[in-house]
Amino acid sequence: MKIYNTLNKRVEELIPNEPGKIKMYTCGPTVYHYAHIGNLRTYIFEDILEKALKYIGYEVTRCMNITDVGHLTSDSDSGEDKMLKGARREHKTVLEIADYYTQEFKNDCEKLNIRWPDIVSPATQNIDEYIKIIEKLLEKGLAYISGGNVYYDTSKLEDYYVLTNHKEDEMVVGAREGVEQDLSKKNQADFVLWFTKSKFEDQELKWESPWGLGYPGWHIECSGIALKYLGEHLDIHCGGVDNIFPHHTNEIAQSEGYLGHKWCNYWVHGEHLNDLNGKMSKSKGEFLTVSLLEEKGYSPLAYRYLCLKSYYHNVLTFSYDILDGAQNEYNKLKNKIKNITADKEEIQKEEIEKYNNKFKESLENDLNTSMALTTLYDVLKDNINNNTKLELIKMFDEVLSLDLLKEEKQEIDSELLSKINELIEKRNEAKKNRNYEEADNIRNQLLEMNIIIKDTREGTVFEKK
Ligand code: AMP
Ligand code: ZN
Repeated sequence: MKIYNTLNKRVEELIPNEPGKIKMYTCGPTVYHYAHIGNLRTYIFEDILEKALKYIGYEVTRCMNITDVGHLTSDSDSGEDKMLKGARREHKTVLEIADYYTQEFKNDCEKLNIRWPDIVSPATQNIDEYIKIIEKLLEKGLAYISGGNVYYDTSKLEDYYVLTNHKEDEMVVGAREGVEQDLSKKNQADFVLWFTKSKFEDQELKWESPWGLGYPGWHIECSGIALKYLGEHLDIHCGGVDNIFPHHTNEIAQSEGYLGHKWCNYWVHGEHLNDLNGKMSKSKGEFLTVSLLEEKGYSPLAYRYLCLKSYYHNVLTFSYDILDGAQNEYNKLKNKIKNITADKEEIQKEEIEKYNNKFKESLENDLNTSMALTTLYDVLKDNINNNTKLELIKMFDEVLSLDLLKEEKQEIDSELLSKINELIEKRNEAKKNRNYEEADNIRNQLLEMNIIIKDTREGTVFEKK
């Protein structure tokens, strides 16, 4: 398989440490809020990568963390702890927030057919591991204690910026959004391994450590969990492109500093999903969640289909128009497949082999999922018997995970969907202009179409009667 390796900035042949086996680590969610569909694009890409590797024949062990402590609002150790922010917002404890949003994330993954990784571990469950690593880093002179916190000393590294094109002077205060002056740091690029001096007196989660009561930095969590569950040699490490710096850069520094040898050979990053205003965020604009898409009548797998149509390495810009298009194509695809009925013919082995190879080749070509979908359409068009087609669809769906052979409950077709959305918009406009009669008329018109609408905090949603 060929894959784009951020470490060497080129597409490379994947050669695992142990033949036939892949150890894969993927950064997990910070469970302080719902995941937006941008976050989920990254998890879809990682899911496809894992399934593609298995399809090609590798044995894959995948591990993911759940960040439930230590991730501050700026990735560079400044700002407020995101978990604490979530707990304050909802008047709950940090652990209640963590449990709730972990479950919600799991539900989203299920809806999108994202396989739950073999090992999923919350950051708060591995404190001893971080302490062990930090002690060793101090012993080796790669870390120092200052102002109560433990920092990694980035000046001790020959190539701290190995993953990025960043330069040290870019870390100077003010040059980069979110970087605050921390007077305890020796070098601006240094980062916190262990906090004891929290700016927030009510930081809920704290543990005893050789450096006092405190909590781990965000970056050490991933190094600790990956080393604990996958060992000293990692084949693939994934995340979204925003993780490259500083998070993955810091993970490399910590893990390789601790181990004294190279840690991970392939760093694979998924590009972002943007909205029309730029980077998607949980705080500005419409908060796009899977549930919101469902409330608007879209099927989560139409979103998965949209992600598969694009190359993971390119930015994808979200709009309801392109989602409408994807929903439409997805419905048509499912309908086409529904009409393929099993026959009494023998499966055509040479056709299976031909198409299987084509499908594999697309995946092996830097995870070209759009080409893999084209191969699926080629199968549907081809003059081969139905049993052969059904067998190939079943095989391909192990990777695509689009429920291609599963019968759905009645779906709303995209023409009806755009009509509904158009009427809802008209009604909102009427309400804004205080034209309540017109608004009521539109509600009745929708009722006649068997559509019930509800006004919620997130906007107007609808369901079929
Ligand atoms: P977080 O929960 O903020 O730690 O992010 C979870 C994952 O989502 C990380 O791997 C990020 O790189 C990824 N991510 C964040 N924003 C986006 C986006 N707009 N599009 C795709 N992936 C994203
Ligand atoms: Zn991570």
